Amino acid sequence: MRYDARVMNHRRTYIFIAGGVMSGVGKGIASASLGAILKSRGLKVTAVKIDPYINVDAGTMNPVEHGEVFVTKDGDETDQDIGNYERFLDEDIVKINYMTTGRVYLSVIERERALGYGGKTVEVVPHVPQEVIQRIKDAAKFHDADVTLIEIGGTVGEYQNVLFLEAARMMRLDTPDDVLVGLVSYLPIPGALGEMKTKPTQYAVRTLNSTGLQPDFIICRGSQPLDLPRKQKLATHCNVRQEDIISAPDLLTVYAAPEAFEKEGIGELVMKKLRLKAKHEPKMSAWQALSKKAQDGGEPVRIAIIGKYAESGDFSLSDAYLSVVEAVKHAAWKLNRKPEIVWVSARQIEKTPKQLAKLLKGVDGVIVPGGFGKRGVEGKMLAIQYAREKGIPFLGICYGAQLAVVEFARHVLGLEDANSTEINSKTKEPVIHLMNEQVERMQDKSYGGTMRLGEYPCLLAKGSRVRALYGTDQVMERHRHRFECNPDYRARLEADGLLHSGLSPDGSLAEMVELKEHPYFIGTQAHPEFLSRPFRPHPLFLGLIKAASKS
Ligand code: GLN
Repeated sequence: MRYDARVMNHRRTYIFIAGGVMSGVGKGIASASLGAILKSRGLKVTAVKIDPYINVDAGTMNPVEHGEVFVTKDGDETDQDIGNYERFLDEDIVKINYMTTGRVYLSVIERERALGYGGKTVEVVPHVPQEVIQRIKDAAKFHDADVTLIEIGGTVGEYQNVLFLEAARMMRLDTPDDVLVGLVSYLPIPGALGEMKTKPTQYAVRTLNSTGLQPDFIICRGSQPLDLPRKQKLATHCNVRQEDIISAPDLLTVYAAPEAFEKEGIGELVMKKLRLKAKHEPKMSAWQALSKKAQDGGEPVRIAIIGKYAESGDFSLSDAYLSVVEAVKHAAWKLNRKPEIVWVSARQIEKTPKQLAKLLKGVDGVIVPGGFGKRGVEGKMLAIQYAREKGIPFLGICYGAQLAVVEFARHVLGLEDANSTEINSKTKEPVIHLMNEQVERMQDKSYGGTMRLGEYPCLLAKGSRVRALYGTDQVMERHRHRFECNPDYRARLEADGLLHSGLSPDGSLAEMVELKEHPYFIGTQAHPEFLSRPFRPHPLFLGLIKAASKS
């Protein structure tokens, strides 16, 4: 892909967002909300995410540890924040919008090896930050953005993100009128004191100062709103005007954030500082309506997600399925339902299979999301069998769809040994097997960025449920997999009722399967959750919630 394909010479502005005090305070949501607010004024906005780790992409990282791996249209495997940007900005984000330390260094080293620096000594500074700047500018150009938000992962003071802050400093030095720096910080209220403390934020600002950057505004996250005395204190100690300090207390839903930030005046503040002209008055009514829906709810609809969950000390993390959860919410709100997610551990089902009915009691729909490897698959298949036999609406996503095929082959076709070769490479009935293109890659241990990734077309069969749901005969969906339905079993599976209702255009690859005699039983090789947007829920999730609302 060429990022300089369009000739554009209008003014571009940049807002760097760094984090202070601690991670996980919602820097991504704050940046995405700021983007939504600017977009609501008619500006063209894009967002860049920088992850400071060495991994070249997020694809090889364990999602249970790191959170979901999001997949872009052009097949990049990224951090889940890119998903937040797509959802909040309602814009497609592409590969150039995502960088890691590994990715940046890899390009610098490859360029050096190709004599791209013309024999010069290549140094960490300035060459690495220059590469970062080039990528940011390429992203802005690619999207023809008036404003590019750049979220620097991690927290100021970490060794890992110094070079990215250095890029911000260099850009600001070059074009001071077009670059802003915002700090998202956290203000704790220690239980024993019951008082909101500003000192950690003061230190964070000082640390940022030591990189040569002064924040233009500070977003103060906390469980409570920031009051006036603390605003004054921060203004004095952090060298920031009081009106440039934004209070950002916890909200009941992230979708309330754009409206809350707009009310706090961050939109006007940024517009003024960057001397941007709005194309029209801020149009926030859709966000207001969404935030109201998200908080009011309606009749509950209970959707079980059968997954693998990590325990980190005393905490159980479910971020690995973030986009799936968001997609359920979008669809439920559209249908005036209150989404309730029931987290069911596939391992727990395996440990106590007799308790399955109890674990799924009162559940209106079941989702088996994407996954990899052996752990938990038998539990997932027990849940699929239960949903199939009891007529509970079911959506299988990627691995979930593959396992639905295995389960059907075992219990309906009577192929007891049916399996995916991912689980048992020696199975006599490989109903799911490695795609041809993957065989060599796996032999070479070439794992990074080598799955079937990104958007691919799928043709939907006449008379199928999926065609009715999508309302069209061809769709594009995002993918991330190495295995596929073995076409040798297609005829037998179809004869017994598991229709292959979505196929790749050449007919070779099964993209969607569905059961005819069932209220809702659909498996998709793709990841529809990546395409669900708050104002445009995905048809397969809408179908699931609709069916689940009837039961
Ligand atoms: N492990 C399966 C594959 O590689 C499914 C992947 C997924 O669910 N994303 O095909």
